[in-house]
Amino acid sequence: MKVVLASRNKNKVKEIKAIYKAITGSELDILSLDDIGYTDEIEEDGSSFEENAAIKASVPAKLGYIGLADDSGLAVDALGGAPGIYSARYSGECATDAKNNAKLLKNLEGVSDRSAKFVCVFSAVAPDGKNITVRGECPGVIAESESGNGGFGYDPLFIYQPLSKTFGELSSDEKNEVSHRAKALSLLIPKLSEFLDSYKD
Ligand code: IMP
Repeated sequence: MKVVLASRNKNKVKEIKAIYKAITGSELDILSLDDIGYTDEIEEDGSSFEENAAIKASVPAKLGYIGLADDSGLAVDALGGAPGIYSARYSGECATDAKNNAKLLKNLEGVSDRSAKFVCVFSAVAPDGKNITVRGECPGVIAESESGNGGFGYDPLFIYQPLSKTFGELSSDEKNEVSHRAKALSLLIPKLSEFLDSYKD
Protein backbone atom coordinates (compact mmCIF):
# COMPACT_ATOMS: atom_id res chain seq x y z
CA MET A 1 0.00 0.00 0.00
CA LYS A 2 1.39 3.43 -0.95
CA VAL A 3 2.18 6.14 1.59
CA VAL A 4 0.90 9.66 0.93
CA LEU A 5 2.10 12.64 2.94
CA ALA A 6 -0.86 14.96 3.49
CA SER A 7 1.11 18.16 2.90
CA ARG A 8 2.06 20.58 0.16
CA ASN A 9 4.84 22.23 2.16
CA LYS A 10 8.02 21.59 0.16
CA ASN A 11 10.24 22.51 3.16
CA LYS A 12 8.55 19.82 5.20
CA VAL A 13 8.80 17.14 2.53
CA LYS A 14 12.52 17.92 2.13
CA GLU A 15 13.14 17.97 5.89
CA ILE A 16 11.25 14.70 6.47
CA LYS A 17 13.13 12.94 3.68
CA ALA A 18 16.50 14.21 4.99
CA ILE A 19 15.80 13.06 8.55
CA TYR A 20 14.45 9.71 7.36
CA LYS A 21 17.63 9.16 5.38
CA ALA A 22 19.82 10.17 8.34
CA ILE A 23 18.04 7.63 10.56
CA THR A 24 17.59 4.68 8.20
CA GLY A 25 20.19 5.25 5.49
CA SER A 26 17.49 4.74 2.88
CA GLU A 27 15.13 6.94 0.92
CA LEU A 28 11.53 7.38 2.03
CA ASP A 29 9.37 6.70 -0.99
CA ILE A 30 6.26 8.77 -0.41
CA LEU A 31 3.80 10.58 -2.60
CA SER A 32 2.46 14.05 -1.86
CA LEU A 33 -1.13 15.28 -2.21
CA ASP A 34 -0.10 16.90 -5.50
CA ASP A 35 1.25 13.55 -6.75
CA ILE A 36 -2.16 11.93 -6.28
CA GLY A 37 -3.98 14.92 -7.76
CA TYR A 38 -5.71 15.93 -4.52
CA THR A 39 -6.32 19.66 -4.74
CA ASP A 40 -8.96 20.37 -2.06
CA GLU A 41 -8.04 22.32 1.07
CA ILE A 42 -8.06 20.24 4.25
CA GLU A 43 -9.79 21.99 7.11
CA GLU A 44 -7.68 21.63 10.26
CA ASP A 45 -10.39 22.17 12.83
CA GLY A 46 -9.09 19.94 15.61
CA SER A 47 -8.35 21.28 19.08
CA SER A 48 -4.92 19.68 19.51
CA PHE A 49 -1.85 18.86 17.43
CA GLU A 50 -2.88 15.19 17.68
CA GLU A 51 -6.40 15.82 16.34
CA ASN A 52 -5.16 17.97 13.46
CA ALA A 53 -2.50 15.43 12.43
CA ALA A 54 -5.12 12.65 12.42
CA ILE A 55 -7.61 14.79 10.42
CA LYS A 56 -4.96 15.39 7.73
CA ALA A 57 -3.66 11.78 7.64
CA SER A 58 -7.22 10.49 7.28
CA VAL A 59 -7.63 12.22 3.89
CA PRO A 60 -5.28 9.91 1.90
CA ALA A 61 -6.46 6.99 4.09
CA LYS A 62 -10.03 7.50 2.85
CA LEU A 63 -8.67 7.26 -0.71
CA GLY A 64 -7.04 3.87 -0.05
CA TYR A 65 -3.52 4.99 0.88
CA ILE A 66 -1.57 4.97 4.14
CA GLY A 67 -1.96 8.63 5.08
CA LEU A 68 0.89 10.34 6.90
CA ALA A 69 0.68 13.85 8.33
CA ASP A 70 2.25 16.05 10.92
CA ASP A 71 1.01 19.04 12.79
CA SER A 72 3.46 21.28 14.50
CA GLY A 73 3.84 24.63 16.13
CA LEU A 74 5.36 26.75 18.84
CA ALA A 75 4.05 26.76 22.42
CA VAL A 76 5.19 29.65 24.63
CA ASP A 77 4.81 29.12 28.40
CA ALA A 78 4.12 32.77 29.29
CA LEU A 79 1.36 32.86 26.64
CA GLY A 80 -0.41 29.77 28.00
CA GLY A 81 0.88 27.60 25.15
CA ALA A 82 0.04 30.08 22.34
CA PRO A 83 0.41 30.27 19.41
CA GLY A 84 0.15 26.44 19.60
CA ILE A 85 -2.10 24.93 16.94
CA TYR A 86 -2.63 28.46 15.57
CA SER A 87 1.11 28.99 14.90
CA ALA A 88 0.76 29.37 11.12
CA ARG A 89 -2.05 31.94 11.35
CA TYR A 90 -1.05 33.66 14.60
CA SER A 91 -1.20 37.12 13.04
CA GLY A 92 -4.49 36.51 11.21
CA GLU A 93 -5.78 35.36 7.83
CA CYS A 94 -2.97 37.04 5.85
CA ALA A 95 -0.27 35.84 8.23
CA THR A 96 3.36 35.74 7.13
CA ASP A 97 6.40 34.53 9.06
CA ALA A 98 7.46 38.17 9.53
CA LYS A 99 4.04 39.23 10.88
CA ASN A 100 3.83 36.19 13.17
CA ASN A 101 7.29 36.86 14.58
CA ALA A 102 6.50 40.55 15.10
CA LYS A 103 3.30 39.64 16.96
CA LEU A 104 5.14 37.15 19.14
CA LEU A 105 7.78 39.73 20.08
CA LYS A 106 5.07 42.29 20.86
CA ASN A 107 3.18 39.85 23.10
CA LEU A 108 6.38 39.05 24.97
CA GLU A 109 7.45 42.67 25.53
CA GLY A 110 8.64 43.01 29.12
CA VAL A 111 8.15 39.30 29.80
CA SER A 112 11.15 37.68 31.47
CA ASP A 113 10.08 34.02 31.33
CA ARG A 114 10.56 33.39 27.62
CA SER A 115 10.62 29.60 27.76
CA ALA A 116 8.90 27.81 24.89
CA LYS A 117 8.89 24.57 22.97
CA PHE A 118 8.39 23.47 19.43
CA VAL A 119 5.98 20.53 19.18
CA CYS A 120 5.54 18.09 16.31
CA VAL A 121 2.96 15.32 16.19
CA PHE A 122 2.93 12.71 13.44
CA SER A 123 -0.03 10.52 12.66
CA ALA A 124 -0.28 7.64 10.20
CA VAL A 125 -3.73 6.34 9.32
CA ALA A 126 -4.58 3.27 7.24
CA PRO A 127 -7.77 2.81 5.18
CA ASP A 128 -9.14 0.43 7.84
CA GLY A 129 -8.83 3.22 10.44
CA LYS A 130 -5.87 1.76 12.34
CA ASN A 131 -3.41 4.50 13.25
CA ILE A 132 -0.25 5.45 15.06
CA THR A 133 0.65 8.76 16.69
CA VAL A 134 3.93 10.13 18.08
CA ARG A 135 4.90 13.48 19.61
CA GLY A 136 8.33 15.17 19.56
CA GLU A 137 9.21 18.32 21.49
CA CYS A 138 12.21 20.63 21.51
CA PRO A 139 12.57 23.11 24.38
CA GLY A 140 14.01 26.58 23.87
CA VAL A 141 13.73 30.26 24.69
CA ILE A 142 12.26 33.14 22.66
CA ALA A 143 14.90 35.76 21.76
CA GLU A 144 14.42 39.54 22.07
CA SER A 145 14.99 39.95 18.32
CA GLU A 146 15.44 37.81 15.22
CA SER A 147 18.81 36.20 14.35
CA GLY A 148 19.75 34.05 11.37
CA ASN A 149 18.27 33.48 7.92
CA GLY A 150 17.97 29.70 7.98
CA GLY A 151 14.87 27.57 8.40
CA PHE A 152 11.38 29.07 8.33
CA GLY A 153 8.59 30.27 10.59
CA TYR A 154 9.67 31.14 14.12
CA ASP A 155 13.22 29.76 13.65
CA PRO A 156 14.98 33.19 13.88
CA LEU A 157 13.38 33.77 17.30
CA PHE A 158 13.83 30.31 18.81
CA ILE A 159 17.04 29.98 20.81
CA TYR A 160 18.26 26.40 21.09
CA GLN A 161 20.16 26.70 24.36
CA PRO A 162 22.61 23.76 24.05
CA LEU A 163 24.15 25.55 21.02
CA SER A 164 23.39 29.13 22.16
CA LYS A 165 22.00 29.85 18.69
CA THR A 166 18.59 30.38 17.20
CA PHE A 167 17.22 27.70 14.87
CA GLY A 168 17.61 30.35 12.16
CA GLU A 169 21.37 30.34 12.78
CA LEU A 170 21.73 26.56 12.51
CA SER A 171 22.47 24.72 9.27
CA SER A 172 19.63 22.46 8.16
CA ASP A 173 21.72 19.42 9.16
CA GLU A 174 22.21 20.87 12.68
CA LYS A 175 18.50 21.62 13.02
CA ASN A 176 17.56 18.18 11.71
CA GLU A 177 19.56 16.56 14.51
CA VAL A 178 17.70 18.24 17.35
CA SER A 179 14.37 19.60 16.12
CA HIS A 180 10.91 18.62 17.35
CA ARG A 181 10.28 17.13 13.91
CA ALA A 182 13.50 15.08 14.13
CA LYS A 183 12.44 13.79 17.55
CA ALA A 184 8.95 12.92 16.34
CA LEU A 185 10.38 11.22 13.24
CA SER A 186 12.86 9.20 15.28
CA LEU A 187 9.88 7.88 17.27
CA LEU A 188 7.72 7.48 14.17
CA ILE A 189 10.06 5.68 11.81
CA PRO A 190 10.41 2.33 13.66
CA LYS A 191 6.67 2.32 14.39
CA LEU A 192 5.79 3.27 10.82
CA SER A 193 7.96 0.56 9.31
CA GLU A 194 6.19 -2.05 11.49
CA PHE A 195 2.83 -0.49 10.58
CA LEU A 196 3.64 -0.63 6.85
CA ASP A 197 4.82 -4.25 7.14
CA SER A 198 1.39 -5.24 8.39
CA TYR A 199 -0.16 -3.79 5.18
CA LYS A 200 2.25 -5.41 2.70
CA ASP A 201 0.34 -6.63 -0.40
P1 IMP B 1 2.91 22.89 10.41
O1 IMP B 1 1.79 22.26 11.17
O2 IMP B 1 4.14 22.02 10.39
O3 IMP B 1 2.51 23.38 9.06
O4 IMP B 1 3.39 24.15 11.22
C1 IMP B 1 2.54 25.20 11.58
C2 IMP B 1 3.34 26.43 11.88
O5 IMP B 1 4.15 26.21 13.04
C3 IMP B 1 4.31 26.87 10.79
O6 IMP B 1 3.66 27.65 9.83
C4 IMP B 1 5.31 27.67 11.59
O7 IMP B 1 4.81 28.96 11.86
C5 IMP B 1 5.39 26.90 12.90
N1 IMP B 1 6.48 25.89 12.85
C6 IMP B 1 6.34 24.55 12.83
N2 IMP B 1 7.54 23.94 12.77
C7 IMP B 1 8.45 24.94 12.74
C8 IMP B 1 9.87 24.95 12.67
O8 IMP B 1 10.56 23.93 12.58
N3 IMP B 1 10.45 26.17 12.68
C9 IMP B 1 9.74 27.32 12.76
N4 IMP B 1 8.43 27.37 12.80
C10 IMP B 1 7.77 26.18 12.81
